[in-house]
Parts: sequence; C-alpha cells; structure tokens
Amino acid sequence: MNILSFTVKGFKVHGPGCYKDVEVHGKTGRLGECRLEPEREGSMPVPYHQRTHTCGELRAAHVGLEVILAGWVAHHRDHKGMVFVDLRDRYGMTQLRFGDETPRPVLEEARRLRSEWCICVRGTVAHRGPGNVSPRFYTGELPTGEIEVVVQDLEILSESPPPPFEISDYTSAHEDIRLEYRYLDLRRPSLQRNFLIRHRVAKTLRDYFDAHGFVELETPFLTKSTPEGARDFLVPSRLHPGKFFALPQSPQLFKQLFMVAGMDRYVQIVRCFRDEDLRADRQPEFTQLDLEMSFVRADEVMRMAEGAIAAVFAQVCQYEIPRPLPRMSYREAMDRFGIDRPDTRFGLELKDVSALVTQTEFAPFRQAVESGGVVKCLVSSDPGGQVLTRKTIDGLADELRGIGAAGLPYTKVVADENGQARVETGIAKYLAPIAPALLSQVGARPGDVIWFMPGNYAAVSKFLAHLRLRLAQLLNLIPANRWHFLWIVDFPLLEWDDEEKRWVSVHHPFTAPLEDDLPLLFAEDSQQWGRIRAQAYDLVLNGVELGGGSIRIHRPEVQRRLFQVLGIGEEEAQEKFGFLLQALRYGPPPHGGLAFGLDRIVMMLTGASSLRDVIAFPKTQRGTCPLTGAPSVVAQKQLAELFLHPVTPGR
Ligand code: ASP
Repeated sequence: MNILSFTVKGFKVHGPGCYKDVEVHGKTGRLGECRLEPEREGSMPVPYHQRTHTCGELRAAHVGLEVILAGWVAHHRDHKGMVFVDLRDRYGMTQLRFGDETPRPVLEEARRLRSEWCICVRGTVAHRGPGNVSPRFYTGELPTGEIEVVVQDLEILSESPPPPFEISDYTSAHEDIRLEYRYLDLRRPSLQRNFLIRHRVAKTLRDYFDAHGFVELETPFLTKSTPEGARDFLVPSRLHPGKFFALPQSPQLFKQLFMVAGMDRYVQIVRCFRDEDLRADRQPEFTQLDLEMSFVRADEVMRMAEGAIAAVFAQVCQYEIPRPLPRMSYREAMDRFGIDRPDTRFGLELKDVSALVTQTEFAPFRQAVESGGVVKCLVSSDPGGQVLTRKTIDGLADELRGIGAAGLPYTKVVADENGQARVETGIAKYLAPIAPALLSQVGARPGDVIWFMPGNYAAVSKFLAHLRLRLAQLLNLIPANRWHFLWIVDFPLLEWDDEEKRWVSVHHPFTAPLEDDLPLLFAEDSQQWGRIRAQAYDLVLNGVELGGGSIRIHRPEVQRRLFQVLGIGEEEAQEKFGFLLQALRYGPPPHGGLAFGLDRIVMMLTGASSLRDVIAFPKTQRGTCPLTGAPSVVAQKQLAELFLHPVTPGR
C-alpha cells in the first residue's frame, strides 16, 4: 500500500491511498483514505463571513450546536494543558475552550494566541458544568457565562502587538494614550455601549420628529460667522485671497431662513464649532439637535421639545418623564439657587438676610448692603460635625477665594444648656444682637452651619451656587438615579457687559422680547433695558443645561431697535446679518425653536463622566487630537496658496 504525503491547496494530504490511483504533484496514489490536514500547523480556514452567532448570543439553550464565532482575544490562559480564550466582539464575550476534543495542531496554534488578535473559530457549544459557571453570569454581567465553545478549528485572521494599554473597563491608562489609540479604546465594552446608546438616542429623535412632521434639512459648514457669541473657526478661501469662511457656531440663521422659505418644521442633528478655551468638559466641535417651527409660541416649542426628550428617556432607559415639565422663572432660580441651571434634586436654598444683618456691626455685611448689594446665606446640616471639619471648611473658603470671593464667613449653631439654639465659632460674636431672629428666619437648628456671602447680587449668587453644590456633594445630599427636569423661562433679554461697557444679548440678538416688555426696549432710559424679559427658555436636567432656544424677532423694526440697543450700527448689522435682515422683509412667519446638546444628553443617559466618552474621536482638553496629531503644521506651499504668512506668536 502506498503512503501518500503531499500538499495541495494549502492542505497536507497524508495516509494510505486506495480506491483509484491519482497523480497529484507528480505523486501517484489513491486518495480515498487520506487525511486532510491544514498545511500551516494547526489552523484550518474557518469561513469568517459565515459567522453563525455573535459573541454575546450563546446560552445554555444552544448546547450541542456547532457554531462559528469571530472576534478579538480579550484574555487567554493556559490551564492544565488546555487553552481558554475570552472572545470579544461588539455584542459581548464568549469563552472558548481548546482541550481534549480539539485537534492537537489546533490546540498548539491556540497556545500562540495573544491579546487583541483577531480570530475565527468553529466549535460546539457546551455547558461549563455547574461548578464552572461564571459568577458574572448570575449578576447579569456575562449572559454567556454558563456556556463555552469547544473549539475544533481556529483561524488567526490577524495578529496584534501587545496593546499599549489593557482593553478593559477598568483600565487606568492615561487619556492621552487612550485617545492616541482610540480604535483600541473604542473596543472597550463601556465605550461601545455609550455609542450604541448614542445611536439609539439619535434614531429615537429622528423618528419622533419625523412623526411630528419635521424635515431634516442640512445647513452649510463653510459659511459666515453666526451669532452665538463664541470665537469662530475660520477657513481661508483659496479662490478669494484674504477672505475667510467661518465654521458655524450653530445653524441659527439658516434655520430661520428655512422658516421664511415656508419649510414650517425643521430639524437637524448637526455639528457645531466654537473656538472657546476648553473649560472643563467642552469640545470645539459638538453635536446639536437643532429645530425650528413656524406659527408657534414658546409653549408649543417647549412641549414639542419635552416630548422628544421624553421619547428618548422612555426608549433608552424605560423612564417615563412626568409631563408637563415644571417651569421656573430666571429670577426665581437666581434668588433660590444662585444659578440659572439649578440642580433641584436637593434643597439647600439661598436665603436673603440683608435686612437683618444691617443690625450688626460686622463691616463686610453692612458695607455690602449699604452699597446696594445683598447678604445671603445657606444653612447646611452636619449634626455630628463629622464632615464639616475645620480642614474642610478652610478648603471650601480657599475654593471660593479661587473663584473671586473675599472669604467665607460662617457660624455654627449649637444647643445651650437649656437645649436652646445659639451661634458659636466663626463670626458668632458679630451676630449676637440678631442671633435669635436670624435662627428663626433661616430655620437653623443645633448641628447646622450657616454660611454667609456679602456682595453684589451676581457675585453672591455665583459664590453661593458654587458652595451649595460643594456642600451637597460633601454632605451626600444628591440622590442618585433621579431625573429632575426644569424649564427656566423669562430670562432677561440683555445683560450689561462690564468689560465691554455695553449691553449684550443673553441668548443671541434674534431672540424676541416678551410682548409685554416691548415698550421697555423702545425706552430711551437705558436702565430700563435690563428689565426686558426674553421669550427664551432653557431646559435643565440635574443642574446641567441640556439646551435652550427662543421665539425669534420677525418684525424688522423690533430687530432694528434691538441692534441699536446692542450698539450694532446699521452698517455692521448689514455686513454681519444682512442676508437675514433681507429675508425678514419677505413675509417671515412668526417662528421659534431650540437646540439641545446631543453629546451632553448622551453623557447623562450613559452616566459617562466626560463628553469625551460619548464622542467617538474627541479632542483633548488642550484642543488637540492625539490620534491624528491635529492641529499640525502645514507646508509653506499650502500657506502660499491661501495667501497666508506665518506670524511668530508674540511678535
Ligand atoms: N442657536 C441656539 C444655540 O445654539 C439655539 C436656538 O436658539 O435655537 O444655542
């Protein structure tokens, strides 16, 4: 009998020939009883294009089934002559077992596997056995944790060097390195989950607005400066030397033109660009859900918008938002919380004690009130005094000084021998004459600390809003898993910019004043302008501004007057917004709209701690992209084509 041994088409043919003589590669023999073995040690091609399941899909009900899976090696371990691999894909993780049932060469091949290699296997689903079920199966974290796939064939689709950081949700790698290898970072299950949720949010919004008669229309990226008040990103024009496009800060003017064009209901999930200093968690390019409606008042826009948010919350986290959402005036929010985006999940409200403290000898209080300012306070409760230690209080005072406060006067409330409340420590001695009245006005009890802030209204609000949040964090007052939505309405239309010494728009210069306040806009006394309320609204969730909008001015004479008040001359208005002013001459419908920050909504829904965790390829806090190295130097030739000459910074 002939023993054949040769290769053909990537397979080793080996064994006793029989049946019929054949000649392959110059050798004669009978093929019938030959064994086919892959030519390369161990691996047998597995048709990766015919995956039968994903790595998140197999359960005990599949035991006995032959399957083909493909994915990445998350973990691998040699254990008592067997190889175990956790195979990961977008859908989950499945354990592979290369053991006794695995052909020897395949088992050998499995020993070569390393993290992040891309492989495909064919095998049979088996129960892990009662003692070997993953504990994470019972917690719901690993739905495949009851089974494993006993591998018959393995194909290594591509190899990988050791990744620069561990691809796990518990990685401690620095963000810069994660962003440099963002495609590896994005393999992490938590990030993948964020982007699946992001997709679901966008899909839900599109479906919702489609069902309400909105059309998604695109607006240009290469355009003229838009009026959101940030710095523009500029794009030099090659065809028009010395001229520039600006990337849109929002589609504001174009969506208004859609209303003039009779499109009635516009929506767009759109990228916006603002060249701002990247304060905590901002991105230079971000995504807005942008909409505009004709023949509406603020109420219709707000209800449409809250319906959209409700649809998203119902879809993504099965949470029914109680509607209509509560509304609060800007003034009330500032008075009670010191901020126009209050976190209403906890109390700790600001109290005005201006009238009372003038009866004390404490100079900072008296001076604040005499110069037209206020003294407000917060009362926090820390009965054991465990949290608000001397060190913590000093730390809080330092923080406040860091944002511009002169200090943080406080006093503690204790019980005297008769159980009566009295003040002690801090500025207690100055408060003696008013102590009983103060305690009853602010409702303070033994164990409380009273924190004071004297100054002008805006500064006091800012400092106490900061303190309120810090105290809530320290004292654990913020309940988890609660969604507190709130519309803030009746914003002022204008505010005084002390640096520029002029009135500026609180939203943007196309926001309409409340009808009742129109006479104030036309008043000659500029002090009246600060009293004009806008038909504007912001939606706040747990102290975070999700977005906002307004009813727009559609009457040219009102727009003209507002420009005057803003100090924008006829010529400048024409130069900047001439095309909009022109359009407003041609029968504009009354209209209004709003925009939500999509990234921020996704961030809140996913519980992500940074916007960078919900933007696929974000910029660092320094505004750079470690992945591509952008922004980068360009060739002289490119600059010359654009008629640009480098200027050394600082000269
Ligand atoms: N354009 C505004 C913004 O980007 C939103 C609006 O008024 O619709 O904030």
